[in-house]
Amino acid sequence: MSTESRKIRLVMDLRNAGVSDTRVLAAIERVPRESFVEEAFLDQAYANQALPINCGQTISQPLVVGLMTQALESTDRHKVLEVGTGSGYQTAILSKLVRRVYTVERHRDLMAEAERRFNALKLHNITTMVGDGYKGWGAQAPFDRILVTAAARIVPPDLVAQLSDEGGIMVLPVGDASGLHQEVIRVRKDGKQFTSERMFPVRFVPLVQGVPSDVSK
Ligand code: SAH
Repeated sequence: MSTESRKIRLVMDLRNAGVSDTRVLAAIERVPRESFVEEAFLDQAYANQALPINCGQTISQPLVVGLMTQALESTDRHKVLEVGTGSGYQTAILSKLVRRVYTVERHRDLMAEAERRFNALKLHNITTMVGDGYKGWGAQAPFDRILVTAAARIVPPDLVAQLSDEGGIMVLPVGDASGLHQEVIRVRKDGKQFTSERMFPVRFVPLVQGVPSDVSK
């Protein structure tokens, strides 16, 4: 089967599994996932599954990317923070949907690879930082939307503080590091009021506080 027909089948599968937002489906169609997977997994680039990337991390499953992106209710006017750049695939999807994406990754090597992909694909509305995304990106706050792609035990307080007071939405996996008990939570902020909503079960790598030391990377 050709790459194009695999991709069309994946988009159909995502639609059947609940990704109904046509902007999100169009973004998934436009971003070449094969540019974000390791060479050894190229033949699985359009399978609906998470795949290993460097530094013991994973590129998220397309269905989870679709559902979390849809849950964010983003528009092309939004300034968005993403925590956990990883391969950069989710970042690239966001870059097609919003005005600007700020993305934070704690592994320098992963960020260098992701930046190469953003340049090659001419995605110019992405700003990157190597650092601890548990603390967010205070200098660029507030954000209209925040998307976290690693699981925290609790909703990180700094991220809540950096979310816009005017209808800000944050979507994040919360749960234990084993991955057995995690679910995606959506937090809405209006003025000083919060509501949070449990959405669906997931399995993410843990959000780790601090950055790796230079020796271990
Ligand atoms: N959205 C990515 C998912 C990568 S996995 C993709 O689709 O490829 C989650 C990523 O979060 C990993 O790369 C991991 O290194 C990163 N991460 C974990 N804790 C972090 C933290 N405190 N700050 C920034 N990045 C973090």
